[in-house]
Amino acid sequence: MNKFENLGLEQPILQAVEDLGFKKPSEVQAKCIPVLLESETDLVALAQTGTGKTAAFGFPLIQKIAEESRTTQAVILSPTRELCLQITNELQAYSKYVPGLNIVAVYGGASINEQAKQLKKGAQIVVATPGRIKDMIGRGLVNISRVDYCILDEADEMLNMGFYEDIRDILSGTPEEKSTWLFSATMPNSVAQIAKKFMQNPVEITVGERNVGAQTVMHEYYTVSGRDRYPALKRLADANPDIFSVVFCRTKRDTQRVAEKLIEDGYNAGALHGDLSQNQRDLVMGAFRKNQIQMLVATDVAARGIDVEDITHVINYQLPDEIETYTHRSGRTGRAGKSGVSMVILTRSELRRISAIEKKIGQKFVAKKLPTGMEICE
Ligand code: ADP
Ligand code: MG
Repeated sequence: MNKFENLGLEQPILQAVEDLGFKKPSEVQAKCIPVLLESETDLVALAQTGTGKTAAFGFPLIQKIAEESRTTQAVILSPTRELCLQITNELQAYSKYVPGLNIVAVYGGASINEQAKQLKKGAQIVVATPGRIKDMIGRGLVNISRVDYCILDEADEMLNMGFYEDIRDILSGTPEEKSTWLFSATMPNSVAQIAKKFMQNPVEITVGERNVGAQTVMHEYYTVSGRDRYPALKRLADANPDIFSVVFCRTKRDTQRVAEKLIEDGYNAGALHGDLSQNQRDLVMGAFRKNQIQMLVATDVAARGIDVEDITHVINYQLPDEIETYTHRSGRTGRAGKSGVSMVILTRSELRRISAIEKKIGQKFVAKKLPTGMEICE
């Protein structure tokens, strides 16, 4: 019988389940909850977005945490600030009848002191974005040396966004004998690698189709001569009239110049780089978020925190110096299982860098030809 009562959950959680109006466990919950309650195992669970993964780890986690102790016993890593807050809210609802349980969210773009203050009160569960918690661990504001549980939520997205090194560093500061639970919608190579490197004989639970090939970002490159970069960018924009993209340049000067040219040429573009005032940057970001700007031309530093949904294309107007930066860039698109394209405009001499990137991302590029004049309106 597929009932919450049969999964090993105790009264405080069952009561919360009733309040939440959850009638029966979803498939991923029915499969994960008993396993996680009964043993101290590592686990890899694959299930599409919207299948209830938060409760699949949240219910057993809350039941296992010793709320009478104030030690940080679990860390949940999640790709974005929004997801951190969402998970925190959900866990708070799940633990409504568990007095003394403290759940604190730490994420970038908000006061570190305020978050540190919350942590000082004693948080058994910390929900964090990798960058911010790594920073806070470095400053001695979070102690993860005694955690029993590490949860990697939306692992594919985190890796898509270039958090591999941060995750590795964070895990290396946790005790060897903890349990690691990894949740993901898809299982690209990068996720399989993490499971292999950082987990011990994980139980594997798959709901629906095992989505190995569901690479949500396609990678393409276009070879041009150096002075044709800008015309190539225009052609790509013309060939994709519904484009909603970030165009990455290497310098602030190029960023400004490309954005100005696009605007002059009648495109819906804006510039985002460090020489603009905070106010100008906020205005540009606001317009981009509202889809009033179709092409946001940006430097890597300025684009760091961008978390805008539905970006259809990432365009590498120039390749970054570091391969790592490429994963940050391409991770701006293909979010939440949606498809996206990461395009690279390069010269013949840069071609050899593509194979190094392919190795890093575990995916192949498609060599594309620029759309011809017939298909575009010049
Ligand atoms: P995922 O992480 O797999 O994308 P979430 O955990 O965010 O999914 O859950 C998606 C939505 O489904 C949330 O609004 C959550 O409250 C709801 N939900 C989760 N489990 C159940 C359930 N057993 N019955 C009804 N709704 C549920
Ligand atoms: Mg989720």
